[in-house]
Amino acid sequence: MRSLIDPLGRRITYARVSLTEQCNLRCGYCYDSAKGHPSGSDQLSLSDTVRLIRALAAVGITKIRFTGGEPLVRPGIVDLIRHASRIKGIHTIALTTNGLVLEPMLPELVKAGLNRLNISLDTLDRAVFKRITGVDGFDRVYSAIVSAEQSGAFERVKVNTVIMRGSSDGEVRRFALWALARKVDLRFIEFMPAQGSKWGRALFVGEDEIKSRIGLDLIPQSMEGDDAGPATSYSVTGATGRISFISAVSQCFCGSCNRVRITSTGQLMGCLFLNNGSDLTELLADGAGTDEIARHIRTVVSSPGFRRMPRETHIRTFNPFMRRVGG
Ligand code: SAM
Repeated sequence: MRSLIDPLGRRITYARVSLTEQCNLRCGYCYDSAKGHPSGSDQLSLSDTVRLIRALAAVGITKIRFTGGEPLVRPGIVDLIRHASRIKGIHTIALTTNGLVLEPMLPELVKAGLNRLNISLDTLDRAVFKRITGVDGFDRVYSAIVSAEQSGAFERVKVNTVIMRGSSDGEVRRFALWALARKVDLRFIEFMPAQGSKWGRALFVGEDEIKSRIGLDLIPQSMEGDDAGPATSYSVTGATGRISFISAVSQCFCGSCNRVRITSTGQLMGCLFLNNGSDLTELLADGAGTDEIARHIRTVVSSPGFRRMPRETHIRTFNPFMRRVGG
């Protein structure tokens, strides 16, 4: 099969699929308190999502990540994972979740084919968690992380953390030590200027500062296969855990970008920072088959400008909300 390659020669093997804009948390950097959570009336049906995944597999995508919004509030997600995991060519099914309702669902998700898991957690402090998310749910998320680790279903559970000045920046070292003592990959994600995020330099804590707050000798790891991508990862001598950085603001990792995105409303997007999605809903409504959708995806990805060029290091506020495009 011909690989999906963009005009700069970057091979795309990974698609992130936002299943819904809805969420069961109200994080200040994502939730719009004036409008509340969107109704989700314009979200793609799960059967159309499966059609798109088939087309993505047909162009060489091997890894699908379900995200949102909160993917676990989308009814039917277990069936979706089961269908997706049976599609020829797809060998990695990943999920990014806030973990709030994860623990009771974990066995059926794993049975359906889930084999990679990222759980978002911005703090190890129960009161701070409530302040950030608007929900008193720290214990449930923490317990889900422990269960996921103990399940043995994942080589390494990844914990996504966005550090912001004034809320969680004082916890960086403690958080890192916590992860290093477990078999967790703690991923510090730089706060990005998404629409509605209330992003500002005053809140931003970059990779350099986080590294200096950790204050440990971090040994670079080279990642291959499914783990290759924008994250840079480090080990620490004698520790089982790992520390990673996803630094879209202070660094440019576009040269190694291997992904496209499907928004919850059926747009194909080539980059978080470009607002030039291609609407796939008409093709789906017209009854297009796998080959036709696949051809369309190839055409879009090969058009110049659809994905950001490595030299374009500046960051603009991007139009889609994070929850729609899938963080
Ligand atoms: N609800 C799921 C979750 O919480 O993991 C999936 C969606 S959420 C948008 C995915 C990740 O994006 C979370 O780790 C969240 O912290 C992160 N995120 C949201 N807004 C962000 C922003 N403006 N900058 C950086 N990361 C952001």
